[in-house]
Amino acid sequence: MTTLVDKLACENLKALVPYESARRLFAASDNNQDAQIPVWLNANESPFANDYVLDCERLNRYPDCQPRSLIRTYAAYARVYDTQLLVSRGADEGIELLIRAFCTSGKDRILICPPTYGMYAISAQTCNVGVDIAPLNADFTLDLEAIKAFKDKVNVVFICSPNNPTGTSVAAEQIKQVLTHFADSALVVVDEAYIEFDLKSSFARRIADYPNLVILRTLSKAFALAGIRCGFTLANEAIIHTLLKVIAPYPMPEPVAQIAAQAISSKGVSIMAEQVNIIGLEKNKLKQGLKAFSEIELVGDDKANFILFRCAQKQALMDFLVSNKMFIRDQSKQYSLANCLRITVGSAQQNAQLLALINQFYQTLGTPT
Ligand SMILES: *Cc1c(COP(=O)(O)O)cnc(C)c1O
Repeated sequence: MTTLVDKLACENLKALVPYESARRLFAASDNNQDAQIPVWLNANESPFANDYVLDCERLNRYPDCQPRSLIRTYAAYARVYDTQLLVSRGADEGIELLIRAFCTSGKDRILICPPTYGMYAISAQTCNVGVDIAPLNADFTLDLEAIKAFKDKVNVVFICSPNNPTGTSVAAEQIKQVLTHFADSALVVVDEAYIEFDLKSSFARRIADYPNLVILRTLSKAFALAGIRCGFTLANEAIIHTLLKVIAPYPMPEPVAQIAAQAISSKGVSIMAEQVNIIGLEKNKLKQGLKAFSEIELVGDDKANFILFRCAQKQALMDFLVSNKMFIRDQSKQYSLANCLRITVGSAQQNAQLLALINQFYQTLGTPT
């Protein structure tokens, strides 16, 4: 059997391993029976779980591919036209659709700016599309010279702002330069998964100005709906029309469409804004708490719902936290992020628990290096 699989599996998949999502990494820790409740601060999820109602009347029918009321409501929220919007299974599906629709397998390439979100490269690799890199500068700004050198060499440029995992937003002036430089040669995708934590940085209003601009959004972070898998792609009508050629016929399950519509209603948006405020206050408290440890150096910025830091004993600290069922995310394999760990801002109680554990680690276990 294995030999048949080896014989038939696509060549470009052979060296790949399934994505180690935050959830997969510690999946086993979720369902055992001991007293300690696991704390998940590793996937930039919201600590809030909001309530929704479900109408089961239409569950016998196939759902709309692009549910009209959902499109209309999110378009109004994002201030774009309905025709400039695509809804998909998370922003992750948006990334894959862009690569499948605009990069020819075995021939075309994308450009990424590490350290950044992992799915751009993974989606490209699974589609047999090449990945070029123009690493961020030491201060995590874009290296414009390096990026510009890829003109006519790549079809899609991915820019994440606010960037996961550095928490830095890219200056509008830098994004404009990239858009202009690649105006006739590549799509520039601005991933705004965390934009609700830094609203003023959004590029959504500029879709009419830049025909090669694409924006990714999600309900997984500020809207506290990672569990329903719902994301949006914003771009001009021609780009959206092309993406509709590759999307599945029924990508949006009816319950997802219903819950998403409630989340982006005016009531839903005000609940989101309130929760973003609370997370902001908690983020400041957590930052202050971390700064008190001389062994810990904060890295990057705080424009999203997570904090990145560097510490020499990153592995020992990580192991200690895991043994206490406190899960944060190791980012140390990322470009220029040696010894870096990322913490999602959780509830007041979870953050306090994390700080107490870090304190315990340095009091009792941490040995000077
Ligand atoms: C979480 C995240 C996504 C994925 O969002 P989903 O809608 O859950 O697929 C995309 N981009 C970045 C930068 C993210 O951090």
